[in-house]
Amino acid sequence: MSKVLRVGVVGVGHLGFQHARIFHQLENSELVGVFDINRERAEFVARRWKTKAFKSLEELLDNVEAVSCVVPTSSHYEVGKEIISRGLHLFLEKPMTETVEQAEELVKLAEEKGIKLQIGHIERFNPAVLAVHKFIDSPKFIESHRLAPFNPRGTDVDVVLDLMIHDLDLILYYLGKEPVKVEAVGVPVITKKVDIANARLEFDRGEIANVTASRISIEKLRKIRMFQKDMYISIDYLHRNVEFYRKFGDEIIPYFPDVKQDLEPLKLELESFVNAVLEDDEPPVTGMDGLKALRVALRVKEDIQRRLPDFI
Ligand code: NAD
Repeated sequence: MSKVLRVGVVGVGHLGFQHARIFHQLENSELVGVFDINRERAEFVARRWKTKAFKSLEELLDNVEAVSCVVPTSSHYEVGKEIISRGLHLFLEKPMTETVEQAEELVKLAEEKGIKLQIGHIERFNPAVLAVHKFIDSPKFIESHRLAPFNPRGTDVDVVLDLMIHDLDLILYYLGKEPVKVEAVGVPVITKKVDIANARLEFDRGEIANVTASRISIEKLRKIRMFQKDMYISIDYLHRNVEFYRKFGDEIIPYFPDVKQDLEPLKLELESFVNAVLEDDEPPVTGMDGLKALRVALRVKEDIQRRLPDFI
């Protein structure tokens, strides 16, 4: 393996453009080229980041060691499978796939091929999340809100797979286990899919997570509040702020962790993938992590479907 990873980006729309930028900028990666079914778009991005627009996926795959796959979710499985089957390392955007079976197949194939598979759960790299990570220890009660104004991008899936999955990943990461019970409600409002949803996750020792996601709100809000023994931690993902209180004796003391505002989550995320490949380490967000978040998201969707109100 070379010391500079030869990377390609497949799907260079809104987010893929940024992936291409970062692989172009990182010192230990070389952006060998991009591929997009929209040829004009591929050529535009290639010009911008001084790389090549390949005419086919196969041609791109023949020339790289690793690929970032940023196509719409409905194509993650098909494109991801082709990349892994070639024995190439894969960074796959979230949500990993549309079904648990597809995700399981990709995890298994990645193991068989001995490649690194990382999933794009980017909030793990939010500077506010990184600043408090070491203090989080078995939260008992979690409340999270992720509200966004409407944007037609991402509506190939519902709000659970589009937005809520970010919080589900973090909750599983903090608690280190999957819920024993999932109850959820949600409704379609603007699109034909569920646009606003609330889920209540219950874990084996009585821990509770109450998770709300909306893509039809007027204002953006992205917060998670966690209560654990003698401690309250609130993370504002959007403004990258932390509110943190700890009980000492009879006193409640505020803490001010050092949030490194200048860090760019996407850069940290893609850099971690490149390093995992070059150093032969486990990626910080594995295929199994992506599979677990997806499994819970699909349980949420199932429960929503089961109790969709009659008026819809
Ligand atoms: P987009 O529609 O802007 O871009 C998708 C691009 O993929 C388009 O240029 C399209 O032409 C191309 N494409 C479609 N099918 C293809 C194929 N089979 N092969 C090659 N190119 C193909 O979408 P986007 O907003 O950039 O989202 C892409 C993915 O990134 C989605 O899975 C989405 O969930 C994920 N995403 C993640 C985050 C995050 O916070 N991690 C944020 C936004 C999007």
